[in-house]
Amino acid sequence: MALITEQLTRGIAQGPIFSFEFFPPKTESAAAQLLHTAEKLRHSQPDFVSITYGAGGSTRERTLHYASTLQDKFGYEIMPHLTCVGHSKEELRSTIQEFKDAGFKRIMALRGDPPKGEHNFTPHPKGLRHANELVELIRQVHPECAVAVAGYPEKHPEADSPEADLIHLKRKVDAGASFITTQLFFDNSVYYRFVENCRDVGIHVPILPGLLSIASREQAMRFCRMCEATFPEALDKNLLAAGEDPHLLRLAGDQWILEQASDLLQNGAPGIHLYILNQADAALTLHQKLQSSGILPKK
Ligand SMILES: Cc1cc2nc3c(=O)[nH]c(=O)nc-3n(C[C@H](O)[C@H](O)[C@H](O)COP(=O)(O)OP(=O)(O)OC[C@H]3O[C@@H](n4cnc5c(N)ncnc54)[C@H](O)[C@@H]3O)c2cc1C
Repeated sequence: MALITEQLTRGIAQGPIFSFEFFPPKTESAAAQLLHTAEKLRHSQPDFVSITYGAGGSTRERTLHYASTLQDKFGYEIMPHLTCVGHSKEELRSTIQEFKDAGFKRIMALRGDPPKGEHNFTPHPKGLRHANELVELIRQVHPECAVAVAGYPEKHPEADSPEADLIHLKRKVDAGASFITTQLFFDNSVYYRFVENCRDVGIHVPILPGLLSIASREQAMRFCRMCEATFPEALDKNLLAAGEDPHLLRLAGDQWILEQASDLLQNGAPGIHLYILNQADAALTLHQKLQSSGILPKK
């Protein structure tokens, strides 16, 4: 079975997964920030890092470029994302081949969101409609690749019901996905319920929880609105109590994520995937605290 599944199922004795998500920068200063963050985080030795793929396929070159940089310059194990948006099947096939040639052993297979200004997802006339079809294509072109797919503990916004969403998630797993990374959530009970529901419908692959490192109350709320995730009252209260003081805000945000991550890892989650928004500090703090409390092993 694929490498990442082995990593994700290797058991607590060898330690859970710790991974980060980057996004490909659009400006020179943002590129410098990414490199700075990659350098700072190198010592935390994440099991892998992922890098997102932009709407409309607009970041294809950038995703490939920065994925290669993160691999070659910093030695990270990479999981580039790939979406169906704006691409024919043949274009997707050739991108998968490029990922394979670059040495990537994992790909996150996504349908993607509609480009800015469009409300509904319209597949390319010669493209793919859903992520399960992309999983199939990746497995054909790059059979030894571990394929991850997205899961939504609070339901994908377009899905008619949580039940329908789970049926579609199972299609992705049946098509050959090795593991699921979740949409962000701030309330662990939604993750535990989601895992239980997945197991009930016969989804047995590892489900890696995705957590957002909190930079500000506004940003956390905006993300929750975008993906229709719950913004817990207690978190709101903590962030409001920190007021405008950036130091207190950081402490409150870091503390919430630490409590979430500790609880998840102590209750059987296979690891933590952190949405770091190309910033190192919250991830470093979390990693250090999880290690010093013995929840993550020292490597
Ligand atoms: C961990 C993670 C990483 C992400 N990374 C990126 C990224 O890099 N770039 C980006 O643009 N977006 C990214 N997204 C956002 C993602 O592209 C959107 O949430 C998108 O709207 C759905 O993508 P999907 O792969 O889940 O689609 P799908 O699995 O295709 O699901 C989309 C909708 O269709 C339904 N559905 C699924 N399969 C079928 C089927 N066979 N028949 C009928 N209905 C079906 C589902 O229930 C759901 O409502 C990410 C999301 C997550 C959780």
